[in-house]
Amino acid sequence: MIEVRARAAARLRAGHLWVYRSDLASASNLAPGARVTVRDPRGNTLGTALYSSASQIALRMISPGPVADEAAFHQLIRERIHAAVEYRRRVVEGSDAYRVVFSEADSLPGLIVDRYNDVLCLQALTQAMDQPEVKATVVAALGEEFSPAGVVERADPRIRKLEHLPESHGGLLAGEKDATIFTMNGVRFHYRAGEGQKTGAFLDQRENYAAAARYARGQALDVFCYQGGFALHLARGCESVTGVDSSRPALEMAERNEELNRASSSAKEVEWIEANAFDLLKDYAAAGRQYDTVILDPPAFAKSKTTVETALRGYKELNLRALKMLRPGGILVTCSCSYHLSEAGFLEVVAAAAADAHRTARVLEKRGQAKDHPILLAVPETSYLKCLILAVGS
Ligand code: SAH
Repeated sequence: MIEVRARAAARLRAGHLWVYRSDLASASNLAPGARVTVRDPRGNTLGTALYSSASQIALRMISPGPVADEAAFHQLIRERIHAAVEYRRRVVEGSDAYRVVFSEADSLPGLIVDRYNDVLCLQALTQAMDQPEVKATVVAALGEEFSPAGVVERADPRIRKLEHLPESHGGLLAGEKDATIFTMNGVRFHYRAGEGQKTGAFLDQRENYAAAARYARGQALDVFCYQGGFALHLARGCESVTGVDSSRPALEMAERNEELNRASSSAKEVEWIEANAFDLLKDYAAAGRQYDTVILDPPAFAKSKTTVETALRGYKELNLRALKMLRPGGILVTCSCSYHLSEAGFLEVVAAAAADAHRTARVLEKRGQAKDHPILLAVPETSYLKCLILAVGS
């Protein structure tokens, strides 16, 4: 049993799932990853949580009720996984790649599972989820749903260190396959476990790829293109597509992905350029280059509250340069995946860029993360991706 302060109890009653260390009413001697009953200062039970001895988020709620023993806990995990899979069956269309389990949003805090066709990739981000018995239960439940050819674990060294987890290189947890080809919206991509960013691809943009492709036309520039997510969707309708990224391995994969899709591409030219996006946009703008469609999908510039100011300058500069390079009637698809920058803040910075560029911008669509990355209404931290599609006038 652990007691939390009144303000934490109020947060939990409002549906949030976290208790910060500073809100624990007593010093805790719980074991890392322990399951614990949570109480308010009056002695009322608030539910069951998983404890972390390392994170500032000391408790993550796993159930509003009691979880009797180890067997009940494992049964709960199985039920949650089956419910998460069922939810995706309803909301995912036209893709064999999507997020199967999204941590808090699927009531499995600390667990991420992504599906790439017949290969599943799992990430355990907390002490509780990293326990071998827990992972075994997760793998067994996933096996019942998908009969995957491989289940791989992806280790995030930065998070493992923060969470005081032993070093690990990840690897196969079940089956033998760790590379495959997956399809999103009819576009095919190579997948190789252990490579690239996140668990391999930016699945949260899947619906935005399709939306961007509906408006895109003419000559297109995909800035921060990674392995070609937006660019290859655009290549099916645009005349030419230029993808820009600073990562050579990402561009090499983009090139291989382009080969996979060449038969269905309408673009006369698809090129990949290794460059710093800020420098390249400056050079291209100075050279008077113009485009009909520009995509901006930078990495999270604001990684914490304190870096929001610097991040805003980055977003402003990128959007300003992109707007200036668009022909009248052009399309700007601009994204931010920084949780610390709100949607209102993002709209404001893009509006300021449009004003400085003396361009009128109309909002065609205000979008977010794909539905397989659900936003839990009571947990604002589960909402992070913003994607605006703008029609840019003269
Ligand atoms: N649009 C991509 C995801 C982009 S992730 C998709 O949908 O798949 C951000 C990308 O920005 C990464 O590939 C990273 O290599 C690249 N990047 C980071 N800083 C950069 C910079 N200064 N210039 C160019 N690319 C950069």
